[in-house]
Amino acid sequence: MIVETKVHTCHKCHSKELVKNGRNACGNQQYHCKTCGAYGVLEPQVCYTEEAKDLIIKAYQERSSMRGIERSHGICRQTLRAWLKEKAEQLPPLETTLAPVDPAQTPVLELDELWSFVFIKGNKVWVWIALSRETREVIAYACGDRSKDTCRILWDRIPSAYKKALVFTDYWEAYQAVIPDEQHHPVGKETGETAHVERWNNTLRQHLARFVRKTLSFSKCIIMHELCLKLFLHRYNTDLLPAS
Ligand SMILES: [Zn+2]
Repeated sequence: MIVETKVHTCHKCHSKELVKNGRNACGNQQYHCKTCGAYGVLEPQVCYTEEAKDLIIKAYQERSSMRGIERSHGICRQTLRAWLKEKAEQLPPLETTLAPVDPAQTPVLELDELWSFVFIKGNKVWVWIALSRETREVIAYACGDRSKDTCRILWDRIPSAYKKALVFTDYWEAYQAVIPDEQHHPVGKETGETAHVERWNNTLRQHLARFVRKTLSFSKCIIMHELCLKLFLHRYNTDLLPAS
């Protein structure tokens, strides 16, 4: 029998004076260094390539929960959260994902607001979406309450090429307060004029339905909520995921 003995040293001071210090969420042995006082993980962490990170983020966007990813890929929720944040912050403005607008045509937009899956002390967070009927791209979004203030944020984010578009919405009063009358068409669901954006809402729910947990604190919740939405919208506009 061959028995190998491995001596671990502190990653900071290379001392051998280590004691065990429990396991982290992924089950890796942690240590405490008696010499320098550092805390760390015994086995060097696996380094993930950008491709591997992207793949795991995609898996997360298929209705997985953070805990689900932790179990299936062995990645701490904190690590995943850091990756999502890092990826979302690297993204250029959503406008850069859009196809150019034909200046000879008047674009048509469908706007809708859907309450999202985050309950914060009994409140809902609303996601506001502006969808191009022609290209099916999401050209702007906003997160917040259902008031005209959030509607105003959405309207201000609409790229200049779409500012003169015909705009179809439901009868919600915030739209009437924000969108100029001459281009605004409030309609009922039965007209089918907002069918594309309504169907798009299902696409979003299908991919991100369970992504934020009640256990997160208020600010983390809303920040992660927006980050994940932003990541998803970029992916959606770039790959034009099928609306289903
Ligand atoms: Zn040390």
